Amino acid sequence: MDLMYRSTRNADNRATASQAVLKGLAEDGGLFVPERIPELGIALEALADMSYQETAYAVMKQFLTDYTEEELKYCIRSAYDVKFDTPEIAPLREADGAHYLELFHGKTIAFKDMALSILPYLMTTAAKKNHEEKEIVILTATSGDTGKAALAGFADVPGTRIIVFYPKNGVSAVQEKQMVTQKGENTCVIGIRGNFDDAQTGVKRLFGDAALGETLASAGYRFSSANSINIGRLVPQIVYYVYAYGKLLKDGAIKPGDLINVTVPTGNFGNILAAYYAKCMGLPIDRLICASNENKVLYDFFRTGVYDRNREFILTSSPSMDILISSNLERLIYRMAGDDAAENARLMAELSAKGSYTVSDAMKAEMKDFTSGFATMEEVSSEIGRLYAKTGYVLDTHTAVASCVYRAYRGQSGDQTPTVIASTASPYKFARSVMEAVDPKYAGMDDFGLIDELSRISGTKVPQAIEEIRSAKVLHDKVIEREQMEASVREFLGIS
Ligand SMILES: *Cc1c(COP(=O)(O)O)cnc(C)c1O
Repeated sequence: MDLMYRSTRNADNRATASQAVLKGLAEDGGLFVPERIPELGIALEALADMSYQETAYAVMKQFLTDYTEEELKYCIRSAYDVKFDTPEIAPLREADGAHYLELFHGKTIAFKDMALSILPYLMTTAAKKNHEEKEIVILTATSGDTGKAALAGFADVPGTRIIVFYPKNGVSAVQEKQMVTQKGENTCVIGIRGNFDDAQTGVKRLFGDAALGETLASAGYRFSSANSINIGRLVPQIVYYVYAYGKLLKDGAIKPGDLINVTVPTGNFGNILAAYYAKCMGLPIDRLICASNENKVLYDFFRTGVYDRNREFILTSSPSMDILISSNLERLIYRMAGDDAAENARLMAELSAKGSYTVSDAMKAEMKDFTSGFATMEEVSSEIGRLYAKTGYVLDTHTAVASCVYRAYRGQSGDQTPTVIASTASPYKFARSVMEAVDPKYAGMDDFGLIDELSRISGTKVPQAIEEIRSAKVLHDKVIEREQMEASVREFLGIS
């Protein structure tokens, strides 16, 4: 029997995995969640010798049950190939007593590639399976990394178009350059005057606009999402936690059944939710350590049970985590409420009406697997400098948030459990903040000068993704007000 998915806001709204992938967001504004979390279904010992692709198949087949073996293997084979600069796909690097899981070896050098290199295959396969004739329009809000990874995945994929909205002054120079130089007839990149939450809220509104949906349908289009609200993003992200466990076994750092901790630099709560799902599948994970930057809405939530986005939005050196409305937290809330869609819908309505909600003590108690912490920009900067001075290993600013939070946690708790830190971006993507952290003398150097210097001091090759943008032409220069998002979508699709 197929594993079915349900909206977090309406238990009667059910879909197969492929339908949920195709839809992205449920019609009622909820997020699709599996009706139950499947078991890992594989002996832990076996993980040590499995390739990334084999691990991906073992995990994904448990969730995406209406895809055939052939379909799923085709998607996996097409996604995790030479686009990645190492056959390991996600190498694990030990530095100063922590295990950094490098998720940035894909095309756009951020962890978003882990899921977005397979999502286009999952989606076009889903379209075929469900006899979807309409052209799929991927509508995406990005805090910097999803945009480029989604563009790279969907560019020139037949039967799809992709529109990306990013906060004009809220991404790094490299992130912006990567997006605005994107080729492909079916791509559209637009800067908005606002922050990531404005972009994400605007996109969700377009999804929820029934009249717009009808206009689109009659013009032969349907919307879908490449954001982590799409279950097709979340499931591929579970894979690398299972894979990391196998690597630790292989390296002799743990024995089968030993517990590990996982620390994740968190924004929209997608990546850490995937780790939680891995735990629910039976992977021996003890603590899930949720690391925030100064936009520490999640840190406050885990401590107090009050989610409150009514606060100043801070632009930090880890822009991909500059988020006050963490979409995927809704999936955890739903589960902590005992899969109660009505209760979840009530809390989400409060969030949209007053910007805050409070969970019950019982729900708060359910969240005991999570530990939270946050790091300031100064702490991030000194962690990058410290680790480089001690080991020669260079972290990006997001991974450094997690590294700080983990080390503070270990110091306070004395917990010596082997810990995997999700390393979510290449330092090359945030070369300015990273190099200034390594040595203040780099302030004032131009962006590509910094990149070459980073290559020299770290002894790593400048990634292809960076070489590509050195001299690339800007192809997208549109900047709009938040209110103009719908008009821009209509214009790109040629509908009035
Ligand atoms: C997106 C992103 C994050 C946050 O991940 P979520 O799944 O949104 O919590 C952290 N670091 C980097 C580099 C990212 O691109």
